[in-house]
Amino acid sequence: MTSVIDITDVSLSYGDTPAVSDVSLTVETGEFLGLIGPNGSGKTTLLHIMLGLLEPDTGSVELFGTPIDAFDEGHRIGYVSQQSTNKGSSMPVTVREIVEMGRFSHVGSRRLGADDHAIVDDALETVNIDTLQHRRVNALSGGQRQRAYIARALASEADLLALDEPTVGVDAESRDQFYGLLDDLNNNGITIVLIEHDIGVVTDRASRIACINRELFHHGDTASFVESNALADAYGASGRIVHHHH
Ligand code: ADP
Repeated sequence: MTSVIDITDVSLSYGDTPAVSDVSLTVETGEFLGLIGPNGSGKTTLLHIMLGLLEPDTGSVELFGTPIDAFDEGHRIGYVSQQSTNKGSSMPVTVREIVEMGRFSHVGSRRLGADDHAIVDDALETVNIDTLQHRRVNALSGGQRQRAYIARALASEADLLALDEPTVGVDAESRDQFYGLLDDLNNNGITIVLIEHDIGVVTDRASRIACINRELFHHGDTASFVESNALADAYGASGRIVHHHH
């Protein structure tokens, strides 16, 4: 079976500052990978490398079995960046218009047809924002906005969903509902990579965990992570503080 993501010996520095050093890992079809590590440990950088958004200095990246240079199925990847959820968009576009963008790579230069609109309707319903579809995205709460971007990924028929700290600034109830939605999507076969600072959320939800602090400290199933010293090793003293919340 081909992996969804396969990175080998990947390193990237910003100038003289190494951000990711010699990381190799795979994400398999249907997996829910939690990517954790302290602030500034290279999580976003690594995710960008994994999705082909940043080119590593050394190492190789394959998406869905294809070397990144030859990969041309971007619609299979749904990416909800920190920026899209936290700051939102200043563009005066409605929720429905955002979700319709998910169809663009499928329709090319033709207009959206009835089939496309049905897929958009489904996506809006799946994430439970169909009643908000005519609202402007920048008038939504952070939690609602995340749902809009996830609906866009669903409309593009993405089979990999990558999210970077999607619940920052979202209240506890919306957060639980949001993670329930992610579980449902994962149970329906969508592969998930999630950066999340709340380690309790990750150990509750993810099937595998990658714990980094520039280098990879642990990559394996959640149970083996909980039993390992990777958390303390990667986080130092701060790891214990974070862990005490749970
Ligand atoms: P995390 O997501 O774990 O907080 P990042 O991948 O954002 O970590 O950052 C890793 C390190 O690289 C940090 O020291 C950060 O300051 C630095 N960094 C991130 N992006 C840039 C950039 N565009 N230019 C220079 N340094 C950066």
